[in-house]
Amino acid sequence: MENVLDKKIIAEIKADLLARKEQILDNIKDISQPDSHESDHLGAKFPEYGDKADENAQEINDYSTNSATEKVLEKTLADIEGALKRIENGTYGICKYCHQPIAAKRLQARPVASACISCKTELQENE
Ligand SMILES: [Zn+2]
Repeated sequence: MENVLDKKIIAEIKADLLARKEQILDNIKDISQPDSHESDHLGAKFPEYGDKADENAQEINDYSTNSATEKVLEKTLADIEGALKRIENGTYGICKYCHQPIAAKRLQARPVASACISCKTELQENE
């Protein structure tokens, strides 16, 4: 595989990121409802199954699942937004730590990557 990030690859990655973004927004909509306290923030939907103890238990159970899923989706969405922003301002594919180009192969596998493999590996070793 080519290891150079050309415009064609970036265009493909951008299309992929936009498609993922749509999908994630859909998923978030499915499990969220507008938060009454913060109008621009979506909270996990609290399901209503009934008033029996087991129904209440199921509501709480599903609520925490939705809540956890929603957090993951929001994080992914933020990663995608960040990658799209970097494509717009021309810094996409540059490692944020060592400022070297990130391998095209890595970006195709993980389009939201903002660090090259060696920096990423180093960070994980230090954790
Ligand atoms: Zn790096």
